[in-house]
Amino acid sequence: MTTPGRPIAADEDPVCGMHVDPETARAKGLAVTHDGHEYVFCGKGCMLEFRDDPNTYLDPRHLPMM
Ligand SMILES: [Zn+2]
Repeated sequence: MTTPGRPIAADEDPVCGMHVDPETARAKGLAVTHDGHEYVFCGKGCMLEFRDDPNTYLDPRHLPMM
């Protein structure tokens, strides 16, 4: 079992830290499930970056930046 590296809210974009409405994100295809947890993104750019390297963005040392 993996423990999340840092707490990420259900409506938080882990890449840039923006708050995103999960339903809107799902409707736009901007939600990704990783390790049984759903993450939502403000846009395709953030989603693709996360999918490339999820552990970078889940690392406690990662500081979300706009
Ligand atoms: Zn974002």
